[in-house]
Amino acid sequence: MLIVMGLDSPRSDIDKVIQKIVELNCTPHEIPGSSKLAIGITGQTHLLKEEDFQMMHSVQEVVRVTKKYKLVSRQMKSDDTIINIDGNSIGGKELCIIAGPCSVESRDQTFAIAEQLKKMGIKFFRAGAYKPRSSPYTFQGLKEKGLEILAEVKEQFDLKIVTEAMNSQSLNQVAEVADIIQLGARNMQNYSFLEEVGQLRKPVLLKRGMSATVEDLLLSAEYIAAQSSYNIILCERGIRTFETSTRNTLDLNAVPVIKQASHLPIIVDPSHGVGIWDKVPQMALASIAAGADGLMLEVHHDPENALSDGYQSLTPKRFKELLNKLSDLAPIVNKELKLYEYSNNPA
Ligand code: PEP
Ligand code: MN
Repeated sequence: MLIVMGLDSPRSDIDKVIQKIVELNCTPHEIPGSSKLAIGITGQTHLLKEEDFQMMHSVQEVVRVTKKYKLVSRQMKSDDTIINIDGNSIGGKELCIIAGPCSVESRDQTFAIAEQLKKMGIKFFRAGAYKPRSSPYTFQGLKEKGLEILAEVKEQFDLKIVTEAMNSQSLNQVAEVADIIQLGARNMQNYSFLEEVGQLRKPVLLKRGMSATVEDLLLSAEYIAAQSSYNIILCERGIRTFETSTRNTLDLNAVPVIKQASHLPIIVDPSHGVGIWDKVPQMALASIAAGADGLMLEVHHDPENALSDGYQSLTPKRFKELLNKLSDLAPIVNKELKLYEYSNNPA
């Protein structure tokens, strides 16, 4: 259920509505939009009656949200959510580019890539310290050591860190370093873990599970939002289909479908979606043409010797070429790509 109030409603009226929701054993969520204030209600809302709220001061409307997901739905909030991370926005006009290697492999490797990306004006650096690998015999990530390296990169280059949390045991350590906690495809439906991550109230990048529908993805986002954690970035990263010529099938239909269904930002990871480096630039451009708010791309200075996902990684040079094309494309879809070139000392 959703209570619509004017943005200029007196605080005392808003507090009375919130108090009433709590008295009825439900949870209130204040969601301000550009013209209205929505107060979302989660919990046993079928037990609530519209009349409980209709007569209260400053209440304009009481709406039953018909979708299974509520807080993340467009019905709850018609404006796009723009997430602000220390002045860097995700979900607005500016395209958000998250780039970096699949894994933290060593200090030298991570610093070499981070330095080149920083010089290109990239603000969000990705790299996994904990890696969910399909085979138990492949590189599993540097774990704590990897987080230490990421903390150094963050400090040295003033980059925002996006890194995956794989389980409860390492969640708090990951959260200390991460500006955005990545939840991987394999964990998208680990509901108790989604709740734990939600309780931290930190920005989350939620990747679509490989066999998950768009509705499944939005319901997983709802698990996080239900913990009053609203800074959620959705990520399309390809799904499993009968097609074997690429690693996954990048479902770009999901972008406009999600834009209509949800107010959350949606970015695309064509590196995992395609799995072959030379097809990544085309699908990156297609993602932005489809209306995505940004991209997550794997970049490695020595892809042939990468310990994970080298085959789908762009070299910094190829990545730079793609950035130039993205800058040209952005205004056509009413977006912009701001790149600040750093010439000498990147820090
Ligand atoms: C990754 O980003 O390196 C990764 C493991 O992604 P996914 O969870 O989409 O497979
Ligand atoms: Mn990877």
